Amino acid sequence: MNDLDKVISIDGLLNMLAKYNHKELHLHHTWRPDHETYFKKPDPLYWQAAMRRYHKENNGWNDIGQHVTLLPDGRFVTGRDFGRDPASIKGYNTKAFAVEMLGDFDIGRDPFDGPQKRSAILLARWFDKRGRYIRFHRESAAKTCPGSSINKYDFMKEVRDGDDKYAQPTLRRGSRGETVKALQDALNKLGYKAGEVDGIFGPKTESAVKAFQKANKLVQDGIVGPLTWAALDKAIKALKPDTGSVISRLTELENKTKQILSEIQNIKKSLSK
Ligand SMILES: [Zn+2]
Repeated sequence: MNDLDKVISIDGLLNMLAKYNHKELHLHHTWRPDHETYFKKPDPLYWQAAMRRYHKENNGWNDIGQHVTLLPDGRFVTGRDFGRDPASIKGYNTKAFAVEMLGDFDIGRDPFDGPQKRSAILLARWFDKRGRYIRFHRESAAKTCPGSSINKYDFMKEVRDGDDKYAQPTLRRGSRGETVKALQDALNKLGYKAGEVDGIFGPKTESAVKAFQKANKLVQDGIVGPLTWAALDKAIKALKPDTGSVISRLTELENKTKQILSEIQNIKKSLSK
């Protein structure tokens, strides 16, 4: 059972999905609303309610067809109960997980890029890594869905050739192990007090994660998924080296310079002989 019409991050979604056993991922685009229509009233819950109403009243379904809607900003809105089969692709609905990507991705219409594409790729990668099939609607229906501008070969290439930093496991309160240690160490280095680096994701680590998420404008759910990992990675790389190591490097360079100068003097001496 999932909460109805809740806006969640990709990290939150992957955490929820871990409790289910969907056998394939279905990708759709909403076509309507397209991005332009959405941004005239950028209220995810308004559009989710409109789609649910349409699916129930026009299509005669007993709920909205998709499990989640993927918004242009990369977040998701939960729809149908994750434990129920979607109304997605005829003949393939059993144990499938269905996503409607908000937009019209036919050639010449909305761009498929930015955070929305990133979330789609991360979600597909999660399924692909577990050996589950990624099905575009058009593979099994006479449609262009999820949009003729999205080439499946290129899409799957991005899903599989992804940057390793997104391949970190999703961590949350109760997680244990080496990756939790790496997380605690990174948070401590960045000045968020995650406590002892013990590999146990407890309340202290959780509040440090939430503080980090807040500072980085991420959803503050305390769950460390691909977006939080990527932000941590970026923050660690941006850390200035500490003064001590800079001074010892300068001393090292100073000594090398002295050595070179004395070699030059020796060569000059030998030439003037
Ligand atoms: Zn479709």
